[in-house]
Amino acid sequence: MQTFEKDFTKVEDSVQQYVTSVHKKVLDKNPNENEFHQAVGDLLHTITPVLQKHPIYIKQNILERIVEPERFISFRVPWIDDSGNVQVNRGFRVQFNSALGPYKGGLRFHPSVNNSIIKFLGFEQIFKNALTGQPIGGGKGGSDFDPKGKSDTEIMRFCQSFMSELANHIGPDIDVPAGDIGVGAREIGYLFGQYKKMKGRYEAGVLTGKGLNFNGSLARKEATGYGTVYFLQEMLKDHNMDLRGTTVVVSGSGNVSIYAMEKAMELGAKVVACSDSDGYIYDENGINLKTVKRLKEVERTRIANYIAEHPNAVYSEDCTGIWSIPCDIALPCATQNEIDENAANNLVFNGVRAIAEGANMPCTHEAISIFLENNILFGPAKAVNAGGVAVSALEMSQNSSRVSWSFNEVDVKLKAIMRKIYHDCVEAADEYNNSGNLVAGANIAGFTKVADTMISLGVI
Ligand code: NDP
Repeated sequence: MQTFEKDFTKVEDSVQQYVTSVHKKVLDKNPNENEFHQAVGDLLHTITPVLQKHPIYIKQNILERIVEPERFISFRVPWIDDSGNVQVNRGFRVQFNSALGPYKGGLRFHPSVNNSIIKFLGFEQIFKNALTGQPIGGGKGGSDFDPKGKSDTEIMRFCQSFMSELANHIGPDIDVPAGDIGVGAREIGYLFGQYKKMKGRYEAGVLTGKGLNFNGSLARKEATGYGTVYFLQEMLKDHNMDLRGTTVVVSGSGNVSIYAMEKAMELGAKVVACSDSDGYIYDENGINLKTVKRLKEVERTRIANYIAEHPNAVYSEDCTGIWSIPCDIALPCATQNEIDENAANNLVFNGVRAIAEGANMPCTHEAISIFLENNILFGPAKAVNAGGVAVSALEMSQNSSRVSWSFNEVDVKLKAIMRKIYHDCVEAADEYNNSGNLVAGANIAGFTKVADTMISLGVI
């Protein structure tokens, strides 16, 4: 039986004291930042054996350095709505760690965005980016702006105002944002247009996730969802299982969800449910992805409208209910902490065999412990959803060399990257006597890469 904190009690007292003291400083210095505390806590408790084996990380005080962002920027974003009223939102960018390359990480536009959300996402991004093997540091940004219900011109004016400040802090060799919740190709287009106008230069590599007509990469739109399923496929194969014939539940119906569903279906799975923040649909014959794509990507409407065209499907309010649907595989692809203890128990009770986190930190600490204790295959977000940022790095390479790879070329590279990430996590877990625990494996593999590089670069 595995547990999340296996080996934690076995480590030497001095190492544990060091970890506890760093953890305490994080809690004291960042009050009320629950998501950030959660992300830091989850990492610290799995890398303790690494510190025991390599005391240089303690001597160099790597932990205290790694939990402190290199820079945190917060700024005013004033904009004018369609009625002529001045609105004000808050913008953020955290430049967390640049040991491996320019800061890299998406922008999230959602009313819940605050210091804690941005810092948890930026912290996770450091290790995720390291796992990709690409030369990218970790960053994240966004705003508490709510794009829902806004007109296209309001979105444009907001993006222009947001970029008016952000442009002072980013650049192709400095910090390269991309999309996340609420930020897709449309928003990236407006952001890039404003950056281009301000700089008077066509620096395509300043943003990724761009449209194909302005230097975007083929397969970037699909990358996070496809990558999630490539990781899952490798994890299943390693345990003599196959996606073909399985029943899958996917939360969300945004960028990550849609392309996770597409790849899972292509590989022979039946996806029976997906959701948005209002509720979920259950279609026992299998979700019609064409309808979901049109509703969400073209019409930008609610998932509830699916049942008007598919009367056999059922719509239920309260999106968290989706985890009570029996399935073989669950892919949480919406948002943080969407699977709690209760949802995890429901999934286990109903016979789930594998979970892969497409979203960032979608499972609570308690939920992860339940999966591991019940020997459910579990792929953690920083490994599973790294395909998006990996292809963003490939987009940066294409922009630098002014070439454009075919869809297939990018897809083949993505698949190889996801396979390697899976096996790197397995090996790291094995090395520290925690075989099968990919949470520990991902944290250890990502952490050691960043920590070693920080040591090479000196105390800066
Ligand atoms: P989108 O904005 O495209 O889609 C988000 C989806 O999640 C929507 O269906 C949204 O519903 C739903 N959702 C948002 N908040 C909630 C909530 N509180 N409860 C239930 N559903 C909710 O975002 P992405 O698909 O890009 O991102 C999804 C997740 O994947 C995030 O955690 C993100 O950080 C992560 N991720 C994204 C990457 C990318 O390349 N895009 C890369 C790596 C990770 P509604 O429309 O009602 O808001």
